[in-house]
Amino acid sequence: MNTMVKGLTYSGQGETAWNNYLKQLDKVAPYLGELSERLDMLRRPKRSLIVDIPVIMDDGSVKHFEGYRVQHNLTRGPGKGGVRFHPDVNLDEVMALSAWMTIKCAALNLPFGGAKGGVRVDPTELSPRELERLTRRYTTEINLIIGPQKDIPAPDVGTNPQTMAWMMDTFSMNAGSTVTGVVTGKPVHLGGSLGRVKATGRGVYISGREVAQQIGLDLAGARICVQGFGNVGSEAALLFQENGSKVICVQDHSATLYQEQGIDVKKLMQYSKAHGKIKGFAEQDEIHTANFWQIQAEIFIPAALEGVIDAAVAQSIQTKMILEGANGPTLTEADEILAERQITVVPDVICNAGGVTVSYFEWVQDLASYFWTEEEINQRMDAIMKNAVSDVWLKASVAQCSLRTAAYILACERILMARKERGIYPG
Ligand code: GLU
Repeated sequence: MNTMVKGLTYSGQGETAWNNYLKQLDKVAPYLGELSERLDMLRRPKRSLIVDIPVIMDDGSVKHFEGYRVQHNLTRGPGKGGVRFHPDVNLDEVMALSAWMTIKCAALNLPFGGAKGGVRVDPTELSPRELERLTRRYTTEINLIIGPQKDIPAPDVGTNPQTMAWMMDTFSMNAGSTVTGVVTGKPVHLGGSLGRVKATGRGVYISGREVAQQIGLDLAGARICVQGFGNVGSEAALLFQENGSKVICVQDHSATLYQEQGIDVKKLMQYSKAHGKIKGFAEQDEIHTANFWQIQAEIFIPAALEGVIDAAVAQSIQTKMILEGANGPTLTEADEILAERQITVVPDVICNAGGVTVSYFEWVQDLASYFWTEEEINQRMDAIMKNAVSDVWLKASVAQCSLRTAAYILACERILMARKERGIYPG
């Protein structure tokens, strides 16, 4: 643990996601004036729940899984953030992910605080029935602290609209009435929003396009490398390709594909949907995993997990722009090196915020029981993302800081000002 980092510490050793968040937060303090005295509030989560999830497996045995829901900050509204099913989920990671949601929602000026949940499980190893039982029991365990006015979960790595349907149904069964607004990212006929599934990838494209314009990077023919080919990476890759860029490399958990002339993203999406992985799509194009960061390309899109861009990657990467589709892919040390090398990083809290923006629309539509067209949704999301990018760009130019720090300045000002106005209870 870096003793220079002030704040609640959970994990003992090394570079953890929470540590990385604390370091990002430290960078913003000098820009906040008197509000910086209040920054301590963001150095610890408001509420962290650890739950045991016993699941009856298909063979009749009982397995226990560990689950979490962390509400990092609720100053500006109910908690908002996804639920992750992944074998590496732990409290430190969920804390960090919840904090990034706090910053993200405030940076986009959405009326939410930040939260996140997760279960340490490999969902690919469970049968659909086991997965449903796990999801329903997890929802019941966190039932007390979630709700449309309290904390609204959504999909993240390893979860999807079906997971959200089970969560909504479980919450509704316990409440005795149908409560659609308790989760977002639901299937469309259960109160889900049009455009939600594609929203995060769309947001990555929009923020990338806007920043490319600022730095004079021509997207026509620009070479793109994508890490992670799930909902976010694949959708972003497709949009860049449709708009004239060339996706030359795609990596997922199973393989790394490289094709100088450009990969057919649509075909790869079909293949990956059918097989659950990209391996086998074009065996002759497979390269070694470790070579991914060595490829020369105008744009890299990390769209998988956190912590993948460390100092060594930052030293060697040959690119102009990094679009953070994933949450927390860049370590703070790497951020500094990238800044020195004048590589533009569009930070996660802006870049992947298209998802939570359409989640916000879904929540609003559920509460109003009135639904918008996909066109309306896309238009509103475009406008919000464009404004956020332009505000952050302006702040970074004025404060002479990175886009990440600029996004943190805008977010922290909004949260800490709200806290100042609310006061501390009891006074
Ligand atoms: N899991 C997504 C994120 O990290 C979406 C969260 C949401 O829609 O609430 O932003």
